[in-house]
Amino acid sequence: MSFASLGLHKTLVNTVSERGYSIPTPIQKAAIPAILKQRDVMAGAQTGTGKTAAFALPLLHRLLEQFDLDQTSEAGLTNQKYKKISVLVLTPTRELAQQVYNSFVTYSQNSSVQSVVVYGGASINTQINALDKGCDVLIATPGRLLELLMKNLIKLHDLKTLVLDESDRMLDMGFIVDIQRILTKIPSNRQTLFFSATFNNDIFALSKTLLKDPKLIEV
Ligand code: AMP
Repeated sequence: MSFASLGLHKTLVNTVSERGYSIPTPIQKAAIPAILKQRDVMAGAQTGTGKTAAFALPLLHRLLEQFDLDQTSEAGLTNQKYKKISVLVLTPTRELAQQVYNSFVTYSQNSSVQSVVVYGGASINTQINALDKGCDVLIATPGRLLELLMKNLIKLHDLKTLVLDESDRMLDMGFIVDIQRILTKIPSNRQTLFFSATFNNDIFALSKTLLKDPKLIEV
């Protein structure tokens, strides 16, 4: 099986091939078609399995298809100038946020998709300036995102997909209340992708409140 046969946009197929990826990893084979079909996903996957590309590639695919359509209409071109956040990835740590951001930047390098990363312990003004330049994909740690939301510096009402990466670590680090507050600010008819390295009762309880008829993937 190849990346092209998973149905990904040719720009992405070319980009991953330039990076030397020839075969999708097991989580990519299972997750990419489900995410492309707009399904919710609950995936058990450790770092190193290729999980970041498993969600980044199909989400970028959707943005690229939208941009292709926009090229053909004047209204679409205007839309592109006023970008709205359509993908939000929550991560437990700033290091993981930066890594996920780097992956989105790499995979979208031959496109006009704009990604922004925000996390605590860094200048909020620099982050606000980056957001003002336009953002399709936002990668964030919960605390800093909440700060931006409470100050009305960010709007998530057009969000199409929420990704929770390393959900088990987010719960271990006590982010549950922050996550619940963030959820009140985003549309409930979104797609939700839930990734966790381990599963326990707390993780199942959280996933139940977030996911609708998810595809379960374990690698
Ligand atoms: P992750 O599990 O997302 O942290 O990814 C682990 C590493 O695998 C990263 O360095 C990716 O660049 C790399 N990777 C992801 N997908 C593939 C693939 N299909 N073939 C080869 N390397 C990959």
